[in-house]
Amino acid sequence: MTGRVLVVDDIPINQRLLAARLTAEYYEVQCAGSGAEALEMMAQEAPDVVLLDVMMPGMTGFEVCQKIKESPDFGHVPVVMVTALDSIEDRIRGLEAGADEFLSKPVNDVALLTRVRALTRLKRILDELKLREATDDKYGIRDSIADISGDGGVWLAINLPGSDVDSMCEAAAICGSQVRVVEDGNAAAAALADNGAELAVIEVSGSVDGLRLCSQLRARPETRSVPILLIGDSWETESLYKGLELGASDYAFRPLDHAELVARARLQIKRHRFHEHLRDQHRANRAMATRDPLTGAFNRRYFTDHFNRLLAHAEESHQPISLILADIDRFKAINDTHGHPAGDAVLQEFMRRMEDCTRGSDMTARLGGEEFAVVAPDAGPRVAGRIAERLRAAIADLPFNLGNGQTIAMTCSFGVTTAVLGETVGDILGRADAALYEAKTGGRNRVVTATIAEVADAKSA
Ligand code: GH3
Ligand code: MG
Ligand code: MG
Repeated sequence: MTGRVLVVDDIPINQRLLAARLTAEYYEVQCAGSGAEALEMMAQEAPDVVLLDVMMPGMTGFEVCQKIKESPDFGHVPVVMVTALDSIEDRIRGLEAGADEFLSKPVNDVALLTRVRALTRLKRILDELKLREATDDKYGIRDSIADISGDGGVWLAINLPGSDVDSMCEAAAICGSQVRVVEDGNAAAAALADNGAELAVIEVSGSVDGLRLCSQLRARPETRSVPILLIGDSWETESLYKGLELGASDYAFRPLDHAELVARARLQIKRHRFHEHLRDQHRANRAMATRDPLTGAFNRRYFTDHFNRLLAHAEESHQPISLILADIDRFKAINDTHGHPAGDAVLQEFMRRMEDCTRGSDMTARLGGEEFAVVAPDAGPRVAGRIAERLRAAIADLPFNLGNGQTIAMTCSFGVTTAVLGETVGDILGRADAALYEAKTGGRNRVVTATIAEVADAKSA
């Protein structure tokens, strides 16, 4: 994934060096020679990532960072501070100014691309969430992403020497996180699955092969998405880079610097949390868009969409496909006599019985009110008629609980039909509806199958 990077540095040769490396990886690069110029450019169009030099005349990098983070328009754009090699003070000041990441001069290629890639991804998620917020605002269902931080939670130390664990604990204390120590991949998988640790810290060349551990974590479904931070010594860069290829999210060198560890861990955890948030939202939205909230059945829109697909598939595979429409008899009387909540309880129980009487491959849906549908792929008129008869008996033979201690006998009428080649969902629904009407006028509590000669001939099953 590429993106747009803004390089802020007062020295033109530094700008050009960074720009050349990023351009070679297909990033779009803009350069600014001062903080003021950078802020002006960001106000025009926000980049995906800012690389910010610390030492600049006029506004220092820290001041620029603070201004960026305070902006309501582009405050969510990730900032990488480019600091002198071992200036721990700079890193701490950077963190205080709101920097998301650090790079040391001279900037190493892999470090540069790893960090820019991670931050570009984060920015994409943030953009998506901001868009959602705008839409959700319209529907008044906004839940804020501003509360999502990288603080707190549990970091997992997997097979690390005691001195590293000590450093981790001190760093974790700064951002209110806890460290749990586990011995190997199995213990890590268990811990990640049941106590919801959000970061795995691994030594790249410990007594357990760190790279193997990395690929194991990536291969297991329960640990696949957890961020992995590798720890190594400066002479182990090759292994660390290999780890990144195997799916590690980031790395840090010994001796572990607290500020750096905090920044890396925070960023990874934040990204992980945004991801989870987005995924939960996707699920919730999908459920909202396709399900009826009262019974949990598919709604009419989903029914129509999916029936279309099932129909096309049935034609391709030369299989019959049938539709059963169900309408509860005299349902209005339940509401009138026992109240709306009693009616709701009946609808829910009705749907449960429909599910119990059909196969997993059948689609059950609530089309509205007290009207339901079953699409049975692979069923011709005779099979569909039998399913409907089974449903009719399942409703009529056992009284319904009204949820208030009372029970009541209910019946339901059914219209059944089998699709004819080339028909639309509307055609089939129309014919099933006519059969249902006949079942109602014929006395209710009965199944009527549409009798079309061609249907019976073509699809007798
Ligand atoms: P018929 O045997 O001819 O089908 O008569 P009916 O009373 O079942 O049919 P009608 O269409 O006249 O009435 C349906 C009733 O279903 C009217 C409406 O108030 C009620 N209804 C629709 N949706 C809901 C719901 O979600 N909950 C409850 N409790 N009632 C509902
Ligand atoms: Mg009815
Ligand atoms: Mg009705």
